Amino acid sequence: TWVLWNDRLVKDEDIHLSKEDRGYQFGDGIYEVIRIYDGSMFTATEHINRFYNSADQIKLIVPFTKDVFHKMLYDLIEANEVVSGQVYVQITRGASPRQHQFPTNMVEPVLTAYTKEVERPVSQMANGVSAKTVEDIRWLRCDIKSLNLLGNVMAKQEAHEAGCFEALLHRGDSITEGSSSNMYGIKDGVLYTHPVTNLILNGITRSVILDCCKEIGLPVVEEPMSLKTIFANDEFFMSSTTAEIMPIVMIDGKKVAEGLPGDWTKKLQTALEAKILQAVHV
Ligand code: PMP
Repeated sequence: TWVLWNDRLVKDEDIHLSKEDRGYQFGDGIYEVIRIYDGSMFTATEHINRFYNSADQIKLIVPFTKDVFHKMLYDLIEANEVVSGQVYVQITRGASPRQHQFPTNMVEPVLTAYTKEVERPVSQMANGVSAKTVEDIRWLRCDIKSLNLLGNVMAKQEAHEAGCFEALLHRGDSITEGSSSNMYGIKDGVLYTHPVTNLILNGITRSVILDCCKEIGLPVVEEPMSLKTIFANDEFFMSSTTAEIMPIVMIDGKKVAEGLPGDWTKKLQTALEAKILQAVHV
């Protein structure tokens, strides 16, 4: 398999990374995951913009233009002949003797990217999954897609140990997002989701879903949901690049409504599917 190492496509075994890479030592870097459908990246521009934006937020300069970067990712996908899968790309502040402050500008960032084939989680999308509520103890810049994922990892592990698919994070009574997803409730024909602030990652799938809501006539209220009234929701779901729209039918071992994917959720899945097909078959 081919991987991207800075601006070069190399064989996986030819990548050399330093023990003093700041990504490795400090989590000093940012990343993106982009879904590939039928050989094409879905919402590539949005992901690339977010990549540059995350980098900008941590004062890391990506040493290529967005167009060049886009082409590099396509070349990687083509080299590996990925049909249905994903591309993972990260950039770190580079390798230099360990010290917390940034190294001088002479130190080059280190970019790595690879692809893998992954099937869409069709059966879970059809049947729904379970979630466990976990206190959100992450830092206050969750809007940056940072490599520092310990808070997310700990939360996901807690959910996983409870036999759940995802952690449903809350700061006190306020539901923020999932450990690697955005969260939504639907009550009396209105969709609720956390507003785009420093407390959540502005999901690319979230933006697409909000467009779908307009199309299907589902009103949206962007305000934090209350944990206390979570079971008042008629439907609940999560979204991400890899999970797409995933119904959540069980929270902390209790059914959400009837414990089945809801009608609005299914309509949104259909609307998203149409956008994917439209985007990749032009
Ligand atoms: N929030 C967090 C914390 C995430 O890690 C992700 C997945 N990248 C998301 C939300 C969903 O974002 P997207 O739809 O862009 O994949």
